[in-house]
This record gives sequence, C-alpha cells and structure tokens, in this order.
Amino acid sequence: MSRIAVFPGSFDPFTKGHECIIEKALGLFDEVVIAIGQNTSKKYLFPLENRKAHIKSIFENNKRVRVEVFTGLTVTFCKEINADYIVRGLRDSKDFGYERSIAQMNHEISGIESVFFMTVPEYTAINSTIVREIHKSRGSIDLFVTNADILVK
Ligand code: ADP
Repeated sequence: MSRIAVFPGSFDPFTKGHECIIEKALGLFDEVVIAIGQNTSKKYLFPLENRKAHIKSIFENNKRVRVEVFTGLTVTFCKEINADYIVRGLRDSKDFGYERSIAQMNHEISGIESVFFMTVPEYTAINSTIVREIHKSRGSIDLFVTNADILVK
C-alpha cells in the first residue's frame, strides 16, 4: 500500500515556500498530489491553467509528484484518490491557529489526518499575497517563485 498525501491550496502563485513543503513531504510519503482548489466565488490573479502548468514544470522530473485541480471539500477529493493524509505548511503561530481548526474539523468529518511541516527559516516570510502585489506592480517575483516565466506568460 502506497502512502498518498494531498497538498491542497490555491497556489496563486506556488512559491518556494510551498516547494520546500513538498520536498519535506516526499521524505514521508510515496506520492504527493498538489491539489489546486478552485472556488468559484474566489478571484485569482494567475489563471488556473498557468498555475497548473507552472507547478507541473517545477516537478516535471519527479514521478512521485502529481498536480490536480479540484472543487468542493478537500476531504472528498482525498477519498476520491485514496489519499489518507493532508499536508500543510506552517510558517508561524498564526498559520498554526488557523490550520488546527481546519485539521480537527477535517478529521471529525472524514477520519483523514493532517500532517504539518515547518517552513525553512529563509522562506518563512514568503507569502502569496505579497508576491501577487509585487507582480501587480510590475516587480520581479523570481526570488520567490521557481520558473516564474511559465507562470506569467
Ligand atoms: P490556502 O488558500 O489554502 O491557504 P495557500 O496556497 O495560501 O492556500 O497555502 C497552501 C499551504 O501552503 C498552506 O498550508 C500554507 O500554510 C502553506 N504555505 C503558504 N506559504 C508558505 C511558505 N512560505 N512556507 C511554507 N508553507 C507555506
């Protein structure tokens, strides 16, 4: 039985912080599915197709990483693909407070466990909201995003 984990998020955009969480999760799981959640009432800066192509490009040489798009509950998607774990990243105590509630409720409704990885110190400040602001103001996001050219084309 292979251990499959889902790393869900909006990834608008997928940053080096997210990338580091995947590298850590690969040490524990056989397969990690990066699941881009599409919420119809939410507005995204980067189009879905660009976000998907961008993440795929980063992991194109890694057969243990897959990129999927889902709508609805994360736990429903996990059941669909036989994943028993959700992976999330923690930068600080604010992330922890928020993630704890979601993890406990997800466990209550589905039995699926969440596993948390700490960001490496150099990526703790990276935040998708700020990366979007830099891009909107025509600044370079190369320092924070691998293969940024694929995302912005
Ligand atoms: P969501 O909209 O679900 O919060 P995000 O794309 O913002 O989606 O984040 C997905 C996950 O990545 C969350 O667990 C978040 O805490 C984590 N994350 C975001 N930025 C970083 C970072 N710089 N380092 C590590 N984890 C991060």
